[in-house]
Amino acid sequence: MEKMIIVGTGCAGLTSAIYAARANFSPLVLEGHEPGGQLSTTTLVENFPGFKEGIEGPELIMNMKAQAERFGARFQYAAVTDFEPQKDFLRVKIDDQWVDTRTLIVASGASARWLGLPGEKGLVGHGLTSCATCDGAFYRNVPVCVVGGGDSACEEASFLTRFASKVYLIHRRDTLRASKIMADRALANPKIEPLWDTAPVEYLTDETGEMRALKIRSLKTGETRDLEVKCVFVAIGHVPNTRPFVGKLDMDENGYLLQRKGTQTNVPGVFAAGDVADHVYRQAITAAGQGCAAALDAERYLADLGAE
Ligand code: NAP
Repeated sequence: MEKMIIVGTGCAGLTSAIYAARANFSPLVLEGHEPGGQLSTTTLVENFPGFKEGIEGPELIMNMKAQAERFGARFQYAAVTDFEPQKDFLRVKIDDQWVDTRTLIVASGASARWLGLPGEKGLVGHGLTSCATCDGAFYRNVPVCVVGGGDSACEEASFLTRFASKVYLIHRRDTLRASKIMADRALANPKIEPLWDTAPVEYLTDETGEMRALKIRSLKTGETRDLEVKCVFVAIGHVPNTRPFVGKLDMDENGYLLQRKGTQTNVPGVFAAGDVADHVYRQAITAAGQGCAAALDAERYLADLGAE
C-alpha cells in the first residue's frame, strides 16, 4: 500500500512531491505522457519569483525534480490508465498494473489544443506558442497574431499589444465566442486587427527555422495570403488530462476537476492541483502553490486516518 501517489511532473506535481517527500512520505510520482508539463516546452520563464534574470522552463523543472528526489520522492515513467476508489483506500492502474494507495494527488495538467498544421510540434518555442504571458515579452515592436475567438484569445491579444507593433486576431467565424467585456476590450484596441472567417493554413519559417509568416485562408472567398508575423499565439482552448478519472471524479462541463474543500475532490483521499483543476490562472506559480496545498491536504488526511 502506497501512502501517496502523485500524478504529473509539472509545477504542481513536483511541488507536491517536494512537500510530501520532505514530510517523509516517500511519494510515488508518475511522469505521465508529457514529463515536466507545459514548462518543459517553454523557453525563458521570467515571471517565476526568485529568478531575477529568469530561468529556462526545462531547467526549472529539472531543479524541482532534483529537489524532490533529494528528499526521497520516487519517480516512475508511467501513466495512470484507470482508477477505482475503494472504501478507505484507492486503487490506481499504472500502465497495466493495479497499485493501492491511501492518497492520490492528481496534477496531470492540461494540454494546449493545437491547430494540427504540419511542422507544428517542432516550431513550439520558435515563433509558435500557446502562452502570451510566458512569451509575449519576446516579441517587442514586431507583428504577431493570435488564433482563436474565446476569452483566452481576446485576453492574450490585449496583453500582447503591450509589446507587439500589431496583433492580428484570427477567428474562424465572424463573431467572437468571448464574453462581451473581453471582446469589446480587444476590438476597441487600435493595435488589434481582427481577421474574420479566416483559418490558418501553413506555418512559414525563415532560413533559421523561426516563424516568418502564417499562410491564412478566407473561409468566405477561399483566397489565401501570407500574413507576416514573428509569432503565432494559439489560443483555441486547453484539454485537461482527466480521461482515467471520467465518471469517478467530479468535473465541470469541460473536464476540469472540481475541488470541494481546499484541493479535496469528491472522493476522499483524492486531491487535485494545478491546471487539471484551474482554467482561469494557469500560471506556473499558481500551479506550484496548489501543489503545495494538495500535499498539505493529503498529509492532514493521512494524519486523520492514522496512516502517517
Ligand atoms: P474557448 O472558450 O473554448 O474558445 C476557443 C476558441 O477557439 C473558440 O473561439 C473556437 O472557435 C476557437 N477554436 C477551437 N478550435 C479551433 C480550431 N481547430 N481552429 C480555429 N479555431 C478554433 O477556450 P478559451 O478561450 O481558452 O476559454 C476556456 C474557458 O476559460 C472559458 O470558459 C473562458 O471563459 C475561460 N477563460 C476566462 C478568462 C477570464 O475570465 N479572464 C480568460 C481566459 C479563459 P468557435 O468560437 O468557432 O468555436
